[in-house]
Amino acid sequence: MYGAGDVRVETIADPTIQHATDAIVRVVRACVCGSDLHPYHNMPAQEHGQQMGHEFLGIVEQAGADVTTVKPGDLVVASFSYQDNTCEFCRAGVQTACVHGGFFSAAQAELIRVPLADGTLVKLPAEVDEKLLPSLLTLADVYGTGYHAAKCANVSAGDTVAVIGDGAVGLLAVLSARQLGAERIILMGRHKTRTDLGREFGATDVIAERGAEGIAIVRDLTGGGAHKVLEAVGHRPAYDQAVGIVRAGGVISRVGVPQYEQAPVGFASLFGRNITLNGGPAPVRAYIDALLPGILNGTVDPGQVFDRTVTLDEVPDAYRAMDNREVLKALIRF
Ligand SMILES: [Zn+2]
Ligand SMILES: [Zn+2]
Repeated sequence: MYGAGDVRVETIADPTIQHATDAIVRVVRACVCGSDLHPYHNMPAQEHGQQMGHEFLGIVEQAGADVTTVKPGDLVVASFSYQDNTCEFCRAGVQTACVHGGFFSAAQAELIRVPLADGTLVKLPAEVDEKLLPSLLTLADVYGTGYHAAKCANVSAGDTVAVIGDGAVGLLAVLSARQLGAERIILMGRHKTRTDLGREFGATDVIAERGAEGIAIVRDLTGGGAHKVLEAVGHRPAYDQAVGIVRAGGVISRVGVPQYEQAPVGFASLFGRNITLNGGPAPVRAYIDALLPGILNGTVDPGQVFDRTVTLDEVPDAYRAMDNREVLKALIRF
């Protein structure tokens, strides 16, 4: 990416092993993320391009001398953060705060260097049906992030859950809330093809209205607000909506990357009603082992969030189409 709206496909040098804990992966599937659209809007024009992409699965091409859990030829999926998965933060389930970790930004490419391969790559069954690859790719970010939203809200059997946002993460937060036993799931979104998929994933109600009107409808529908609100947008109006629809004693869980620093937390908003505010960058590595079996046995199909498949050369068009909301999430097939 050379700046807002300027994505180019270029040939650069192949990545090489730099540390004995690295691996090189040949990417089989990658994708464009909703979060990639922030720089697509805002990045100042620059002379040298920035590599993009943080969601991928592929085949290990080369493993450093200290890598023990994967070997060349293995099919693997990576979390969007890399981590040792052994430090005190990783052991506490906050892999995105790993003392040795970081975040990928070079996965929209044929080859990628994976630091801390043992803590980052998860081996997949070699004979996996190719049809499952899109769903397996969601483990890299969007499914794990939706699941993190539901886990941070402690969604439990019988809960009424409201999900704000009908992007890929919001829709997979719906799926995750259903998996965790929510009884009623209210999806707040305005794009019918997306909210229809949300119903398929388990939404019981869809509310297209926003702002004060949307808040009034949800409060009325729930007799005073939802127990758990999963916010998957990141803009300030979505936060205000979450505060408006959460029930006293409830939880707001945010996984949409906040595009704001200031928001109310005082008596009238959170404190006076004993609201818990939770969430953050999802430590998706912590969830891959738990979410993988449901994909492999066909219980869930989170890969339905991909509604266009492109080649590497078509990636600039995939950004444009996602930005225009023609496409929910674009899969890159190598
Ligand atoms: Zn992502
Ligand atoms: Zn760590």
